[in-house]
Amino acid sequence: MMLEELRKEVWQANMALPEHGLVTWTSGNVSGRDPETGLVVIKPSGVMFNELTPENMVVVDAEGMVVEGDLGPSSDTASHLYIYNHRPDVMGVVHTHSNYATAFAAVGKSIPVYLTAIADEFGATIPCGGYAGIGGEEIGEEIMRSIGNSPAILMKQHGVFTIGKSVKKALQAAVMVEDIAKTVWMAMQIGEPEELPVEEIDANYDRYQHRYGTFEASTGISTKEG
Ligand SMILES: [Zn+2]
Repeated sequence: MMLEELRKEVWQANMALPEHGLVTWTSGNVSGRDPETGLVVIKPSGVMFNELTPENMVVVDAEGMVVEGDLGPSSDTASHLYIYNHRPDVMGVVHTHSNYATAFAAVGKSIPVYLTAIADEFGATIPCGGYAGIGGEEIGEEIMRSIGNSPAILMKQHGVFTIGKSVKKALQAAVMVEDIAKTVWMAMQIGEPEELPVEEIDANYDRYQHRYGTFEASTGISTKEG
């Protein structure tokens, strides 16, 4: 069986969707691209999450032809492939209809940087793309037109797409966008959230993306000499 590691990684990320409450029934899907062959491993179509295994993930080529797999690939495969074919840096794609983020999508609202967590993770407004029909290349086209440098995009009256330089990074963005959307929605019930100033957004993003997790960032103690 080909791409065993990537199959396992994509299967685990798919299983993380229900674990994080991002999907229901068979909705939602994750894919990952193999940097060497360019082949994409994606969730099969119409299979319940508890029936997914690394072995029943489907391997497709850049045109969507099944290279290995007994089941059909996810019905969102064309959208995933459109992203991969237009973004060489992207190695993982996640799609969900997670409730809070999709509520913003339902009304066509982007999520501005109201919280340091949004600045940390996204560094800018999480955009909402226009409505696009499901199945063909329309969704992929609209994602490419509207996503900019964001790792996440809300798609009007549909749901969420996230991208990353790895499957794990795309999954992280999917989990974080839902968490942020939930908090912002709550905030909107009790007041009007304010956007952070640009310099605060940039400072938080820079700190979190470049230094977070290091000794220096967690303690404030410089490890550099001199
Ligand atoms: Zn969808």
